[in-house]
Amino acid sequence: MTHSLADRHGRIATDLRVSLTDRCNLRCSYCMPAEGLDWLPDDKVLSDDEVVRLIAIAVQRLGVREVRFTGGEPLVRRGLVDIVRRARALDADVDLSVTTNALGLTRVAGALADAGLDRVNVSLDTARADTFHRITRRDRFADVEAGLAAAQAAGLGPVKVNAVLLRGENDDQAGELLDWCLERGYDLRFIEQMPLDAQHGWSREAMVTADEILAQLSTTHALTPAAEPRGSAPAELFLVDGGPATVGIIASVTRPFCGDCDRVRLTADGQVRDCLFARSESDLRSAMRAGASDDELAERWVTAMLGKAAGHGIDDPTFLQPDRPMSAIGG
Ligand code: SAM
Ligand code: SF4
Repeated sequence: MTHSLADRHGRIATDLRVSLTDRCNLRCSYCMPAEGLDWLPDDKVLSDDEVVRLIAIAVQRLGVREVRFTGGEPLVRRGLVDIVRRARALDADVDLSVTTNALGLTRVAGALADAGLDRVNVSLDTARADTFHRITRRDRFADVEAGLAAAQAAGLGPVKVNAVLLRGENDDQAGELLDWCLERGYDLRFIEQMPLDAQHGWSREAMVTADEILAQLSTTHALTPAAEPRGSAPAELFLVDGGPATVGIIASVTRPFCGDCDRVRLTADGQVRDCLFARSESDLRSAMRAGASDDELAERWVTAMLGKAAGHGIDDPTFLQPDRPMSAIGG
């Protein structure tokens, strides 16, 4: 390792989120408009070779220990299994995971496990087919249910489920979703909705807060703080009914964990983002295509991290939502 991805606030990024595409086969209302978005042109999207080269630089020179593939929907990227295999070949110990909506996971879960993937995180906001259809604008709940089961059967566990609660849609379903996950052995975590939707429809008033989620879950389950320290993991973990099962709550907005952030992001078009909410990016794609060496790319990446802000600033009066929506950043 020649460098680390340190910023000016004492944090070191070791967790890399790699977006493999900005496209998606769902249209979750808090993420994308019904008609979708103007997708990145193909020539701007990194090739499989380019993605693997940048992961190699991150893992072998910059101290990255965890790589999570995301999007858009990473399972729509044709080269996903091959990219995972090549990432695993770079380093036997680096933690490799995929964040996915699980559509199509029944087909590739086994191949992903064989390629060396450790885990999947599946995004699912409800255990009801009709609510799923309304939120995602697609009638695909059964496919997600099957995808989750396939991931578990393939050994891609512990399977984590990430859920966002939306006022008036599924905000009364927290306990029901928790029971559904407990019955199947999935680890559920709720995430506060963030101002990252393409439509700019987020409002603090409409957001379901971590405290509300906790209060709701506490009506049906005894929740006690799990002993393990939170560290850089953003989820506050609670034992459910004495454990061992847990539920997590990620209060990104009301209790930000920016001070412990260890993340850095690479977009599908090869831009380094030091924060979900960053307003500037560092263009590794152009540098790479102009012939930059691995050393030069690593140097550029290290420099990019020096601009990382201390916090996301959602509460600042001057806060501006980033130009890229979540689906184009890589959540
Ligand atoms: N398509 C994949 C999926 O849904 O898991 C990966 C990309 S998606 C952008 C990653 C995560 O971001 C999902 O768990 C999704 O629920 C979450 N997400 C999207 N928009 C969000 C928002 N405005 N606030 C909080 N989480 C959001
Ligand atoms: Fe697609 Fe994930 Fe966004 Fe839903 S949250 S529209 S599955 S990218």
